[in-house]
Amino acid sequence: MYQSLQDSGSSANPYPETASLILIVDDDPFIRLQLRLYLQKEKYQVAEASDGVTALEAYEELHPDLILLDAVMPTMDGFACCKKLSAIPESERPPILMITSLEDQKSVDQAFEAGAADYITKPIHWAVLRQRMRRLIQQFHLQKQQTLLYNQLEAANQQLKYLALIDGLTHVANRRQFDEQLEQEWRRMIRQQTPLSLILCDIDFFKLYNDTYGHQAGDVCLQQVAAALNRSINRSGDLVARYGGEEFVVILADTELEGAIHIVKKIQANIQALEIIHETCPNHYITLSFGISTVIPSQGTLPETLIAAADQALYQAKALGRNTFCTKVHSINKLNG
Ligand code: GH3
Ligand code: MG
Ligand code: MG
Repeated sequence: MYQSLQDSGSSANPYPETASLILIVDDDPFIRLQLRLYLQKEKYQVAEASDGVTALEAYEELHPDLILLDAVMPTMDGFACCKKLSAIPESERPPILMITSLEDQKSVDQAFEAGAADYITKPIHWAVLRQRMRRLIQQFHLQKQQTLLYNQLEAANQQLKYLALIDGLTHVANRRQFDEQLEQEWRRMIRQQTPLSLILCDIDFFKLYNDTYGHQAGDVCLQQVAAALNRSINRSGDLVARYGGEEFVVILADTELEGAIHIVKKIQANIQALEIIHETCPNHYITLSFGISTVIPSQGTLPETLIAAADQALYQAKALGRNTFCTKVHSINKLNG
């Protein structure tokens, strides 16, 4: 069993690291007592263990800021204990200061190889121990602080990346992400010579919906439609994006026209299942019109041609009375022309 002893003295200490917890590991009770009294005098918190195994248990429970480790001990010696502790991730691993009567080069080398941060010999030179402990604890705290800051920065970066690519209202991809992914898939399809399909869709009579139910209800409707679109795709290369206002766009890489039509029918079923009432429009429920375009892109052509084709098809679907889809499959030459 290890022992945790905390100093209850109330005198203010000028050094921030002196609130730190130090784990003393030594099989000799007299050395432990000496160290404990000295550390308590220095206003450290102290825990004790009499061998390597209990030292590991104490580490697990107490997470000390420094471990003072004896080399020669029963059950598990200091070198083996040090090796075990070196498996802890670096940012969390407390420094290990070996205090031992072994002075030969082999033992010193062995200690550093096992992961010790520093080494002092017995009999203890207390002023040296004091300075070494302070330095090691300071370094440990600094390292922990740096890790924390780094993690916070990483999280903030991830959040920024997310915000730069996601539409704030509907949480699907924004126009920027759409442009980037279309460009990327366009180049990939040129290399592979496989078809790329685009679905441009627009909510029918949405102005009327806003006028009837208010802008906030309109926002909720946009969120529901975006979620339904997302539920309708499942391949990793597929992307749903808000193209603008109440228009959405779906990129379908490696997808023929038939595949794109299949997705549109899935979207229609998912939108229908939402049963969003729109009393003032002829269908009495929210519906979408779709323009689908498919092309096998060729070198020197631009993805805008595919968007323009989908836009024309969408215009046709609107003209046909809405709640339907039209298609445009072209050779790239026709698209350009
Ligand atoms: P059509 O069937 O021809 O598509 O008619 P429409 O009324 O849907 O189309 P129109 O372009 O006339 O109106 C689009 C409406 O979409 C008008 C605008 O207020 C609304 N809208 C665009 N963005 C948002 C938004 O972020 N939130 C809400 N609530 N409404 C939006
Ligand atoms: Mg509309
Ligand atoms: Mg519109």
